[in-house]
Amino acid sequence: MKAEKNIAFFDFDWSLIEQDSDFWTISKLSEAQWNQCETLKSMQWTDLMDRSICELQDNGVTLDQFENVLQKIPFTPAMIATLKLLKEHDTQVVILSDANTFYIETILKAYGVRDLVHDIITNPAYFDDKNRLRIRRRILATAPPHNCPNVCALNICKGQEIDTYIRNHGPFQKIIYVGDGKNDYCPATRLREQDRMFVRSGKALARYLERESHILAAIKAKITYWDSSEIVRRAVEDEKL
Ligand SMILES: [Mg+2]
Ligand SMILES: [Zn+2]
Repeated sequence: MKAEKNIAFFDFDWSLIEQDSDFWTISKLSEAQWNQCETLKSMQWTDLMDRSICELQDNGVTLDQFENVLQKIPFTPAMIATLKLLKEHDTQVVILSDANTFYIETILKAYGVRDLVHDIITNPAYFDDKNRLRIRRRILATAPPHNCPNVCALNICKGQEIDTYIRNHGPFQKIIYVGDGKNDYCPATRLREQDRMFVRSGKALARYLERESHILAAIKAKITYWDSSEIVRRAVEDEKL
Protein backbone atom coordinates (compact mmCIF):
# COMPACT_ATOMS: atom_id res chain seq x y z
CA MET A 1 0.00 0.00 0.00
CA LYS A 2 1.24 3.47 -0.90
CA ALA A 3 2.27 5.55 2.14
CA GLU A 4 0.24 8.70 2.77
CA LYS A 5 1.87 11.92 1.65
CA ASN A 6 2.55 15.02 3.69
CA ILE A 7 0.92 18.34 2.83
CA ALA A 8 2.11 21.90 3.46
CA PHE A 9 -0.32 24.83 3.66
CA PHE A 10 1.17 28.30 3.29
CA ASP A 11 -0.47 31.57 4.05
CA PHE A 12 0.82 34.00 1.40
CA ASP A 13 1.39 37.54 2.78
CA TRP A 14 4.21 37.67 5.32
CA SER A 15 4.42 33.87 5.24
CA LEU A 16 5.43 32.66 1.80
CA ILE A 17 6.44 36.17 0.72
CA GLU A 18 8.07 38.96 2.72
CA GLN A 19 5.34 41.56 2.34
CA ASP A 20 1.63 42.19 2.33
CA SER A 21 0.68 42.03 -1.36
CA ASP A 22 -2.33 44.37 -1.01
CA PHE A 23 -0.28 47.06 0.74
CA TRP A 24 2.69 46.61 -1.58
CA THR A 25 0.72 46.77 -4.81
CA ILE A 26 -1.56 49.67 -4.02
CA SER A 27 1.00 51.80 -2.17
CA LYS A 28 3.63 51.32 -4.90
CA LEU A 29 1.12 52.33 -7.57
CA SER A 30 -0.23 55.28 -5.59
CA GLU A 31 0.57 56.28 -2.06
CA ALA A 32 -2.51 58.50 -1.98
CA GLN A 33 -4.68 55.53 -2.88
CA TRP A 34 -3.28 53.52 0.02
CA ASN A 35 -3.79 56.42 2.41
CA GLN A 36 -7.41 56.46 1.35
CA CYS A 37 -7.68 52.72 2.13
CA GLU A 38 -6.39 53.44 5.63
CA THR A 39 -9.33 55.77 6.20
CA LEU A 40 -11.87 53.18 4.93
CA LYS A 41 -10.85 50.24 7.09
CA SER A 42 -14.41 49.76 8.35
CA MET A 43 -15.22 48.37 4.89
CA GLN A 44 -14.94 44.64 4.26
CA TRP A 45 -11.34 44.15 3.15
CA THR A 46 -11.86 42.37 -0.20
CA ASP A 47 -14.50 44.92 -1.19
CA LEU A 48 -12.15 47.76 -0.25
CA MET A 49 -9.28 46.25 -2.27
CA ASP A 50 -11.60 45.76 -5.25
CA ARG A 51 -12.78 49.36 -5.02
CA SER A 52 -9.18 50.64 -4.77
CA ILE A 53 -7.85 48.75 -7.76
CA CYS A 54 -10.88 49.92 -9.76
CA GLU A 55 -10.13 53.52 -8.88
CA LEU A 56 -6.47 53.08 -9.80
CA GLN A 57 -7.44 51.68 -13.22
CA ASP A 58 -10.07 54.38 -13.76
CA ASN A 59 -7.24 56.86 -13.13
CA GLY A 60 -5.09 55.29 -15.84
CA VAL A 61 -3.06 52.58 -14.10
CA THR A 62 -2.56 49.67 -16.53
CA LEU A 63 -2.41 45.92 -15.95
CA ASP A 64 1.28 46.03 -16.97
CA GLN A 65 1.92 48.42 -14.11
CA PHE A 66 0.23 46.05 -11.67
CA GLU A 67 2.37 43.20 -12.96
CA ASN A 68 5.60 45.21 -12.79
CA VAL A 69 4.97 46.07 -9.15
CA LEU A 70 3.94 42.54 -8.19
CA GLN A 71 7.01 41.02 -9.86
CA LYS A 72 9.27 43.00 -7.50
CA ILE A 73 7.70 41.90 -4.22
CA PRO A 74 10.29 40.40 -1.83
CA PHE A 75 10.40 36.59 -1.83
CA THR A 76 13.38 35.11 0.00
CA PRO A 77 15.73 32.54 -1.56
CA ALA A 78 15.24 30.42 1.59
CA MET A 79 11.47 30.28 1.07
CA ILE A 80 11.96 29.39 -2.60
CA ALA A 81 14.39 26.66 -1.49
CA THR A 82 11.74 25.45 0.97
CA LEU A 83 9.25 25.00 -1.88
CA LYS A 84 11.87 23.07 -3.86
CA LEU A 85 12.62 20.81 -0.89
CA LEU A 86 8.93 20.09 -0.36
CA LYS A 87 8.69 19.09 -4.02
CA GLU A 88 11.72 16.77 -3.61
CA HIS A 89 10.07 15.23 -0.56
CA ASP A 90 6.87 14.71 -2.58
CA THR A 91 4.96 16.96 -0.15
CA GLN A 92 1.95 18.67 -1.70
CA VAL A 93 1.95 22.48 -1.40
CA VAL A 94 -1.24 24.55 -1.10
CA ILE A 95 -1.50 28.34 -0.69
CA LEU A 96 -4.36 29.43 1.56
CA SER A 97 -4.62 33.20 1.40
CA ASP A 98 -6.85 36.24 1.75
CA ALA A 99 -5.03 37.96 -1.17
CA ASN A 100 -6.28 37.08 -4.66
CA THR A 101 -5.53 34.73 -7.56
CA PHE A 102 -4.06 37.45 -9.80
CA TYR A 103 -1.49 38.71 -7.29
CA ILE A 104 -0.45 35.23 -6.21
CA GLU A 105 -0.19 33.75 -9.72
CA THR A 106 1.77 36.78 -11.00
CA ILE A 107 4.26 36.63 -8.12
CA LEU A 108 4.76 32.86 -8.28
CA LYS A 109 5.37 33.05 -12.04
CA ALA A 110 7.80 35.97 -11.63
CA TYR A 111 9.92 33.84 -9.29
CA GLY A 112 9.58 30.70 -11.43
CA VAL A 113 7.87 28.68 -8.69
CA ARG A 114 4.30 28.34 -9.98
CA ASP A 115 4.83 24.63 -10.75
CA LEU A 116 5.91 23.97 -7.14
CA VAL A 117 2.43 24.86 -5.86
CA HIS A 118 -0.42 22.37 -6.36
CA ASP A 119 -3.37 24.54 -5.43
CA ILE A 120 -4.19 28.16 -4.58
CA ILE A 121 -7.21 28.80 -2.38
CA THR A 122 -8.00 32.51 -2.20
CA ASN A 123 -10.31 35.30 -3.40
CA PRO A 124 -10.84 35.04 -7.17
CA ALA A 125 -9.67 37.80 -9.53
CA TYR A 126 -11.45 38.39 -12.82
CA PHE A 127 -11.81 40.97 -15.59
CA ASP A 128 -15.04 42.95 -15.83
CA ASP A 129 -16.82 44.19 -18.96
CA LYS A 130 -14.59 47.29 -19.00
CA ASN A 131 -11.59 44.90 -18.93
CA ARG A 132 -10.59 46.06 -15.46
CA LEU A 133 -8.90 43.68 -13.02
CA ARG A 134 -11.36 42.98 -10.22
CA ILE A 135 -11.43 40.90 -7.01
CA ARG A 136 -14.39 39.24 -5.36
CA ARG A 137 -14.80 37.61 -1.96
CA ARG A 138 -14.24 33.85 -1.78
CA ILE A 139 -17.51 33.65 0.17
CA LEU A 140 -19.84 36.18 -1.45
CA ALA A 141 -21.93 38.54 0.69
CA THR A 142 -25.03 36.86 -0.81
CA ALA A 143 -23.86 33.31 0.10
CA PRO A 144 -24.60 31.58 3.42
CA PRO A 145 -22.10 32.80 6.07
CA HIS A 146 -19.42 30.36 7.29
CA ASN A 147 -20.54 30.85 10.93
CA CYS A 148 -17.09 29.92 12.23
CA PRO A 149 -16.65 30.70 15.95
CA ASN A 150 -12.95 31.55 15.46
CA VAL A 151 -11.45 34.90 14.45
CA CYS A 152 -12.06 34.48 10.70
CA ALA A 153 -12.93 37.19 8.16
CA LEU A 154 -16.40 37.11 6.58
CA ASN A 155 -15.05 36.17 3.17
CA ILE A 156 -12.89 33.16 4.06
CA CYS A 157 -12.57 30.63 6.88
CA LYS A 158 -9.24 28.91 6.39
CA GLY A 159 -10.17 26.17 8.87
CA GLN A 160 -13.18 25.14 6.80
CA GLU A 161 -11.03 25.35 3.65
CA ILE A 162 -8.54 22.91 5.18
CA ASP A 163 -11.34 20.54 6.24
CA THR A 164 -12.71 20.52 2.69
CA TYR A 165 -9.30 20.13 1.09
CA ILE A 166 -8.36 17.19 3.27
CA ARG A 167 -11.74 15.55 2.74
CA ASN A 168 -11.23 15.78 -1.03
CA HIS A 169 -7.50 15.08 -1.30
CA GLY A 170 -6.46 13.37 1.93
CA PRO A 171 -5.76 11.74 4.21
CA PHE A 172 -2.27 13.07 4.80
CA GLN A 173 0.35 11.64 7.09
CA LYS A 174 1.56 14.99 8.32
CA ILE A 175 0.20 18.53 7.82
CA ILE A 176 2.52 21.53 7.90
CA TYR A 177 1.09 25.05 8.21
CA VAL A 178 2.99 28.32 7.84
CA GLY A 179 1.20 31.51 8.87
CA ASP A 180 1.44 34.90 10.51
CA GLY A 181 -2.08 36.37 10.69
CA LYS A 182 -5.05 36.05 12.99
CA ASN A 183 -6.97 34.24 10.24
CA ASP A 184 -4.29 31.51 10.40
CA TYR A 185 -5.48 30.59 13.89
CA CYS A 186 -8.60 28.70 12.78
CA PRO A 187 -6.71 26.31 10.46
CA ALA A 188 -4.10 25.77 13.21
CA THR A 189 -6.86 24.35 15.43
CA ARG A 190 -7.42 21.65 12.76
CA LEU A 191 -3.87 20.30 13.16
CA ARG A 192 -3.16 17.04 15.00
CA GLU A 193 -0.30 16.14 17.33
CA GLN A 194 1.84 14.76 14.51
CA ASP A 195 1.47 18.00 12.48
CA ARG A 196 3.63 21.15 12.52
CA MET A 197 2.64 24.80 12.88
CA PHE A 198 5.11 27.53 11.89
CA VAL A 199 4.08 30.83 13.46
CA ARG A 200 5.82 34.02 12.38
CA SER A 201 7.26 35.86 15.39
CA GLY A 202 6.21 39.44 16.08
CA LYS A 203 3.05 39.29 13.94
CA ALA A 204 -0.67 39.22 14.78
CA LEU A 205 -0.99 35.43 15.20
CA ALA A 206 1.97 35.26 17.61
CA ARG A 207 0.43 38.09 19.66
CA TYR A 208 -2.98 36.42 19.60
CA LEU A 209 -1.56 33.13 20.92
CA GLU A 210 -0.05 34.99 23.88
CA ARG A 211 -3.39 36.46 24.95
CA GLU A 212 -5.01 33.62 26.86
CA SER A 213 -3.79 30.11 27.55
CA HIS A 214 -6.90 28.39 26.12
CA ILE A 215 -6.24 29.98 22.72
CA LEU A 216 -2.82 28.39 22.53
CA ALA A 217 -4.07 25.14 24.07
CA ALA A 218 -6.47 24.58 21.16
CA ILE A 219 -3.47 23.92 18.89
CA LYS A 220 -2.34 20.32 19.33
CA ALA A 221 0.52 20.44 16.81
CA LYS A 222 4.08 21.34 17.72
CA ILE A 223 4.60 25.08 17.18
CA THR A 224 7.80 26.54 15.79
CA TYR A 225 8.17 30.32 15.94
CA TRP A 226 10.20 31.79 13.11
CA ASP A 227 11.37 35.20 12.00
CA SER A 228 13.68 34.16 9.19
CA SER A 229 12.47 31.85 6.42
CA GLU A 230 15.79 30.02 6.84
CA ILE A 231 14.31 28.47 10.03
CA VAL A 232 11.42 27.02 8.01
CA ARG A 233 13.78 25.80 5.28
CA ARG A 234 16.04 24.08 7.80
CA ALA A 235 13.15 22.33 9.56
CA VAL A 236 11.81 21.06 6.23
CA GLU A 237 15.29 19.83 5.29
CA ASP A 238 16.26 18.27 8.64
CA GLU A 239 12.93 16.64 9.39
CA LYS A 240 12.12 15.66 5.79
CA LEU A 241 8.77 17.43 5.99
MG1 LIG B 1 -0.28 36.54 6.17
ZN1 LIG C 1 -12.71 29.74 10.81
